[in-house]
Amino acid sequence: MKKKQKIDLLERTLVLIKPDGVERRLVGEIISRFERAGLRIVGLGIVKPTKELIDRHYPKNRAWIENLGYNTIKTAEEAKLKIDLQKDYGVKNVYELGLKVRQWLIDFMSSGPVVKIALEGPMAVSVVRKLVGKTTPYLAEPGTIRGDYSIDSPLLANLEKRPIKNLIHASGNLKEAKYELKLWFKKSELL
Ligand code: GDP
Repeated sequence: MKKKQKIDLLERTLVLIKPDGVERRLVGEIISRFERAGLRIVGLGIVKPTKELIDRHYPKNRAWIENLGYNTIKTAEEAKLKIDLQKDYGVKNVYELGLKVRQWLIDFMSSGPVVKIALEGPMAVSVVRKLVGKTTPYLAEPGTIRGDYSIDSPLLANLEKRPIKNLIHASGNLKEAKYELKLWFKKSELL
């Protein structure tokens, strides 16, 4: 390599053990999965987040919100359930439906303690996502944390007007990880 390139050889990423994971006493088990894989804990804490913090945590862009709405409609269609946006959810369009799901997330994530973990390692963002597994518990592979310890379906969650219970949040990419680490940890709290 001739020119000096700035490469992140060690990445940092954020994991949150959601209120369902804390309630089910899975904190130790979940942390040990990351440690066993060789990731290093560089920040750790337990907090009861405010709604404002969760609102800043989840994306506000239209595409992400509409996607939540589309998925909710798709789930109902796949189950041959007719949904009436106005009657069932009190909304007019897919964007407003996505906002509803986002609000369920805000309410749930601020309903109890959350464990925040900053992890470091080579390719930490994708390694953590791999260990966590797919968003939908019944589709998450055995051997992943969600696959081994959670069972829920989007259909049930949507009917109960709550987010899918899947134990963990993990940053989706390096940009998200940088934003989220700054949001959840003060500089002095990170090694
Ligand atoms: P993640 O990165 O795997 O957590 O997934 P997303 O960023 O797509 O969604 C954020 C969270 O919203 C998920 O972890 C679920 O708890 C919840 N969620 C995602 N999709 C749906 C859905 O279709 N219905 C409901 N009720 N909750 C959802």
